[in-house]
Amino acid sequence: MTVRIGVIGTGMIGRDHTRRIQQVLSGARVVALSDYDPAAARAVQAGLVPEAQVFERSEDLVASDQVDAVLVCSTGATHEPYVLAAIAAGKPVFCEKPLATTAAGADRIVRAEVDFGKRLVQVGFMRRYDAGYRMLKQVVDTEIGAPLMVHAAHRNQSVPESYATPMAIHDTLIHEIDVLRWLLDDDYVSAQVVFPRRTRHSHAGLADPQLVLLETKKGVRIDVEIFVNCRYGYDIQCQIVGEEGLANLPEPMAITLRKDARLQNALLVDWKERFIDSYDVELADFIAAAARGTAVGPSSWDGYVAAITSDACVEAQESGKIVPISLPKRPALYDQG
Ligand code: NAP
Repeated sequence: MTVRIGVIGTGMIGRDHTRRIQQVLSGARVVALSDYDPAAARAVQAGLVPEAQVFERSEDLVASDQVDAVLVCSTGATHEPYVLAAIAAGKPVFCEKPLATTAAGADRIVRAEVDFGKRLVQVGFMRRYDAGYRMLKQVVDTEIGAPLMVHAAHRNQSVPESYATPMAIHDTLIHEIDVLRWLLDDDYVSAQVVFPRRTRHSHAGLADPQLVLLETKKGVRIDVEIFVNCRYGYDIQCQIVGEEGLANLPEPMAITLRKDARLQNALLVDWKERFIDSYDVELADFIAAAARGTAVGPSSWDGYVAAITSDACVEAQESGKIVPISLPKRPALYDQG
């Protein structure tokens, strides 16, 4: 079966996922496009998929009997209604992060999916599909004994003026929030944010760097450094300290160069390149499951937990206090990971 996909939102990531489906992956094709700005959808149609239909209204794209599955790639605040519409139509839906901009919105999606009785939603937490993180999980599960501590870092070379303090949580930490609980098979119970000396390379609306301190149900202590004007490159670090050993996330592949009396290798600067392969793998997973009329991978429950946790982290940024995190009971629909 070839899965016929409709893409909502044809900005940076919607265009890239369309290219991926059309040119890299098998088993699906893009048959429909929509965007708040129809000219943007038509530009992607002209450049990548001339046979696709451009819909003026994304709701009509979801409802179309030509569309088997939906990709929601519009701006975050618009995700919830489109995901709910796809669930109501019984169609598998891949939703870029965030699943919803509020925990209440993510909860509405979880309830709708549970009422439907089958998983239909995959959230775009692509790090779970990264080869390095998968190797790390294998080692954490089998080699280092019980995890005790995690030291992680998320560093960007620089960010624009529009990037404000809470975005360090909603846009940046959100990936660590998901991937760390997946790596540890655990959930968070509290969050605290502390602010080291501020870099002179930041701007008035952004406290940079930040240190997020998380505690899990099993008692693991996690520190995540978020430093988004670090100047030197895009750098993701993750070290898990267990009771029998210590495991590090592998560095991205790079040539080691000996030249001019120096030993060096290049670092990435563009975040898009760091996880480029994982986007392919996550969408391949989505397509394979959509062909069976369901969804796998990061679920709407995971999107909901990420929303609850990131709300607690923002509250911790504002209050300076340790903020407790409590989760409702996980519905049985999400018991299979
Ligand atoms: P973008 O370039 O701004 O694209 C978003 C597109 O959605 C724009 O063309 C926008 O149109 C359109 N749009 C806005 N409201 C809409 C609506 N109600 N219905 C249909 N289309 C609408 O943003 P992006 O960088 O592609 O990001 C899109 C989403 O993907 C965000 O949620 C972002 O967090 C997520 N993302 C995830 C990753 C990841 O690593 N997993 C990476 C990048 C982005 P206008 O420009 O006319 O408003």
